[in-house]
Amino acid sequence: MKKHNFYAGPSILSQYAIDNTIDAIRDFAGTGLSVLEISHRSKEFTAVIEEAKALFKELLDIPEGYDVLFLGGGASTQFCMVPYNLLKTKAAYVDSGTWANKAIKEAKLFGEVDVVASSKEDNYVWYPTEFTVPADADYLHITTNNTIYGTELRKDLDVNVPLVADMSSDIFSRPVDVSKYALIYGGAQKNLAPAGVTFIIIKKDILGKVDRAIPTMLNYQTHIDKGSMFNTPPVLPIYTALQTLKWLKQLGGVKEMQRIDEEKAAYLYDAIDNSRMFVGTTHEDSRSLMNVCFVMKPEYKELEKDFIDFAGTKGIIGIKGHRSVGGFRASLYNALPLESVKVLVDAMKEFENNH
Ligand SMILES: *Cc1c(COP(=O)(O)O)cnc(C)c1O
Repeated sequence: MKKHNFYAGPSILSQYAIDNTIDAIRDFAGTGLSVLEISHRSKEFTAVIEEAKALFKELLDIPEGYDVLFLGGGASTQFCMVPYNLLKTKAAYVDSGTWANKAIKEAKLFGEVDVVASSKEDNYVWYPTEFTVPADADYLHITTNNTIYGTELRKDLDVNVPLVADMSSDIFSRPVDVSKYALIYGGAQKNLAPAGVTFIIIKKDILGKVDRAIPTMLNYQTHIDKGSMFNTPPVLPIYTALQTLKWLKQLGGVKEMQRIDEEKAAYLYDAIDNSRMFVGTTHEDSRSLMNVCFVMKPEYKELEKDFIDFAGTKGIIGIKGHRSVGGFRASLYNALPLESVKVLVDAMKEFENNH
């Protein structure tokens, strides 16, 4: 049976990216070797990383003065690399959910942290957008998509200090005005590639302003100087990331992706809003296009597990909500087709009719 993959991460990739990766595992670029066993310094792989970087710049319209890095360590390593490299005395953070909290915890190891806004007391069901950033903050850190609670900030803020964003779970789902950011990072395993590679878009002139000694591997400058090749980069995930970028370009780029993502999310939110049984958990104006969180209304609460089982019989995988929200979370990442959303909505309607 065809599976409909709603996992929150690692998550669905395009068939194009998977097929091309399989081909390269068998024979990479006509080398007679697998991409699993080639030198990262071979000319064939150097071409891969250069093309991936160029497509990042093209698809996101990244201006001059920025570099794109592909490193290991996941977004979680960026939680400490960002303050290590950028926090002199004080940084501002928006507490929009679990991941933001983890970033805040790391920043506190390096200096003063001013949490300028938080929706914690409401269990993060809305995205905080009203705040003032102290002018003497070294940067403001935001998490654009709250993967766990299903809220998202789908616009680029104008702020008076350098802006740093964790875009792990919504990169490439809309055009981004990169010029408004000093640094954008994310783990690749939501919208780009299998787990193992972290992307970083960095404005080069923000570096070199802290006095502390930075360990070589955690210093952005090391990786800028060596083109992400200071040590062995995650070769296979970078290869797959390149395939995703090519797929995205063929599809029409981020603007077209945004149109498709909006259509998918509207289809599901509309079904939730018109349901007798299901109800969304987030405020309407904060709704994530990437992670749709919903639960059953109190009178049907005991049917939640039954619905997950029922959905499973339709090939629907990965809709169990995160333990901190409960209920359901349907992740509608870029590679998920509208068809899968329709299968989910049909299952919701059928289940509702059966009860
Ligand atoms: C998944 C996720 C992370 C964690 O990424 P790792 O690569 O596992 O460290 C961080 N931030 C956000 C927004 C995420 O969705």
